[in-house]
Amino acid sequence: MLIIMKIGATKQQILAVVQGIEEIGYQAKISKGSQRSIILVHGNIGYIDESYFNKFGGIRNIVHISRRLKLVYKENNGGVDTVVDIGDGISFNEYFSHIIAGPCSVESEDMINETAQFLCSRGIRVLRGGAFKPRTSPYSFQGLGDKGVRYLRDAADRYCMKIVSEAVDEYSLNALMETADIIQIGARNMQNYSLLKKVGNSNKPVLIKRGFTASHDDLFVSLEYILAEGNPNVIVCERGIRIFEGSKQRSIIDLLGISDFKEECHLPMIVDVSHATRDRSKVLPLARAAMAYGCDGLMVEVHPDPDKALSDGPQSLTFKDFDALLLEVKKLSGMFGKPLKIFKGSEK
Ligand code: PEP
Ligand code: MN
Repeated sequence: MLIIMKIGATKQQILAVVQGIEEIGYQAKISKGSQRSIILVHGNIGYIDESYFNKFGGIRNIVHISRRLKLVYKENNGGVDTVVDIGDGISFNEYFSHIIAGPCSVESEDMINETAQFLCSRGIRVLRGGAFKPRTSPYSFQGLGDKGVRYLRDAADRYCMKIVSEAVDEYSLNALMETADIIQIGARNMQNYSLLKKVGNSNKPVLIKRGFTASHDDLFVSLEYILAEGNPNVIVCERGIRIFEGSKQRSIIDLLGISDFKEECHLPMIVDVSHATRDRSKVLPLARAAMAYGCDGLMVEVHPDPDKALSDGPQSLTFKDFDALLLEVKKLSGMFGKPLKIFKGSEK
């Protein structure tokens, strides 16, 4: 059962409902969205008589759920999309879309500063960069670790940006909980349920990528793991699924899956248009397609000198390529109903 509280329900009203649930022997989990709170009742085997809740104030409606998953479906969220608010006017799943951009990996203080300065001057406000890198080969560059996180944070602060970076284990998660604005869970860890429970156990925004071989059902289970812990601030990222050996591209972006996802789930979905391509000339066409299918934003790899990049150089855009993409996405995103939010460039 889900108890959807009214917008503006007080803390006391929410606590009274939670106490009421516990008094009849069940457990309650509160999910605090930016608009309203939802209380998940679990521990019951059969149907709960909802008239018991008539005595409580602040309840909008009650939803009985027979499906295995409870929190991930839009219909169980009152048909309302969840807005993930990152602060400073950046929110996902509202009228606007955003571009998250930056290098695959933070490679040095200078390169991340140069990238942040460029992106900020173009009105982009979310900087990506891996410090703990889950590489396909154990012999490839594995990231700068803590030092990389520090460089990323400092660069972002200098240019008034937010940061997203990937956690791969408990150590990196703890480090990023302290410093990052959004924690990324990569494709390889989409089904790492203990990591998902940990990010679910805070209110920190999470960006979770769909696994290479994950169906939407698998993805929904992973999202439910985070939501069930009480964290509604989840951004989902389509990044492409496995393809036949020998193909020129790395993965296939599931375009129809974007619109299907948006119909079924209340969370925002962005599309990583870099990792599937292995070729920067394919990034713009993919961005056009992803916007056409109704995504809430894009993730794009950008590097000051991609030919010298320590990871994913071939698919990383140069600054010049990024300008071309921005111009086009600005135009198209408006046409497709989710105009790109561009901020005024500013530096501290
Ligand atoms: C990344 O975004 O840096 C990354 C490693 O992506 P993915 O998990 O999609 O492979
Ligand atoms: Mn990469």
